[in-house]
Amino acid sequence: MTGDPTDLTLAEAARLLRRRGVSAVELAQAHLNRIRTTDSLLNAFITVDETGTLASAKESDRRLRTGGGAARPLEGCPIALKDNFVTLGLRTTCASRLLADYSPPYEGTPSGRLKAAGAVVLGKCNMDEFGMGSSNEHSAFGPARNPWNLARTPGGSSGGSAAAVAARLCLAATGTDTGGSIRQPAAFCGLVGVKPTYGRISRYGLVAFASSLDQAGAIARTVEDAALLLQAMSGHDPNDATSARRPVPDWPALLKRGIAGMRIGVPEEYFGEGIEDGVRQAARDAIATLAALGAQVQTISLPHSPYAVACYYILAPSEASANLARYDGVRYGRRAGGPLDLNGLYVQSRAEGFGREVTRRMLLGAYCLSAGYYDAYYAKAQKVRTLIRDDFTRAFETVDVIAAPTTPTAAFLLGERRDDPLALYLADALTIPASLAGLPALSVPCGFTAEGLPLGLQLIGKPFAEDDILAAAQAYEQATDWRKRRPEFPA
Ligand code: GLN
Repeated sequence: MTGDPTDLTLAEAARLLRRRGVSAVELAQAHLNRIRTTDSLLNAFITVDETGTLASAKESDRRLRTGGGAARPLEGCPIALKDNFVTLGLRTTCASRLLADYSPPYEGTPSGRLKAAGAVVLGKCNMDEFGMGSSNEHSAFGPARNPWNLARTPGGSSGGSAAAVAARLCLAATGTDTGGSIRQPAAFCGLVGVKPTYGRISRYGLVAFASSLDQAGAIARTVEDAALLLQAMSGHDPNDATSARRPVPDWPALLKRGIAGMRIGVPEEYFGEGIEDGVRQAARDAIATLAALGAQVQTISLPHSPYAVACYYILAPSEASANLARYDGVRYGRRAGGPLDLNGLYVQSRAEGFGREVTRRMLLGAYCLSAGYYDAYYAKAQKVRTLIRDDFTRAFETVDVIAAPTTPTAAFLLGERRDDPLALYLADALTIPASLAGLPALSVPCGFTAEGLPLGLQLIGKPFAEDDILAAAQAYEQATDWRKRRPEFPA
């Protein structure tokens, strides 16, 4: 092909591959080269699988040549996976020292489905350890950087995925979102990030953080690309008891539906204190654009959303403390050396393996779940979660989609909040409510700060109504030029 293949969108690449206008090996090599020459600046990847990439690209080319690849929507497309997606034989670290050498003996459902759809997996992306963080600074492999400004965070916890997609080191990437980890990095890096409804994508083969909240999703440069990736991963899986038995709509086909008559609710609580003026204005402008496109905009109230951060930081650490109890240094994961008794082995392996934030969360969680405190913290937070969810149920009686900023600020400086956990936790104040309610939500680029940092508009939908938020995002994306701006990377 003429031009740089890393400039293609995922949808363009998929079409071009099928027309044989580019080969899968050519595409894979272009991305591997870009990773080789620029990822030392970004630290977006923890593991790059050159051999596996070229082998599967060759397979894709063979299938495309013989006609077998035409039915697979992502045949030959190079993508990347967040490093908490379990991949057979390919190291899966969760950005933890504890799993630094873990080579899984099985393939997870989401990554397996992407491979079955023809995707070529370039490697595994940097993240906050076990998904706990909002800046990628809690990674045992060092922080990833934001290609729009290397002094700034790409967000977290799926920061490496977002940095890689924005810098065109891959066509798209997966992420996971427990409280905002797809939407927040997407907003910080000028990308589309979609977290579907809880239960849409199997959690079989996602390393668990907080099981009642964890949901996989897509980070991409366009809404169409995100829809393609989402579709390939979604659908019922008997290996996950919380996986929904729902047919998966043809999202890419539903995108062009338009938004005439769509009722969009604007929650006043999401525009209040702590939200930067520029962020608020960009979201208001974006909502005005949606109205100009035919949506009916109305103000709504989600009165319990301001309690979401407090509620989440009881529930998520509680679930984490239970989920992470399995890392005892015995069956898998890093084992401490030296002459230890059994208890000493547990204590030492965990002390050496887990980073500070993960340790903080496990302590917090164990405390909240302990006899005597359970009712005051965990049980109470569950009740607050119900109130937050009920607010959404009520709002969706009168609106189809809820629109708000994705984050209170644009990407902050690396180091700025590292030693202030509360400041970091507040980065997710606007994304956590939809997570607690299990709702589909996305972030779509909606402008830039005066300094040239990207901002995101968040759209939240009814349960299993991903089509609504995708159609609204598509209409907005096509009516604006934000997606055409690119980071000057490498400078
Ligand atoms: N930043 C939030 C946290 O630290 C959310 C993380 C996530 O969604 N995985 O828990």
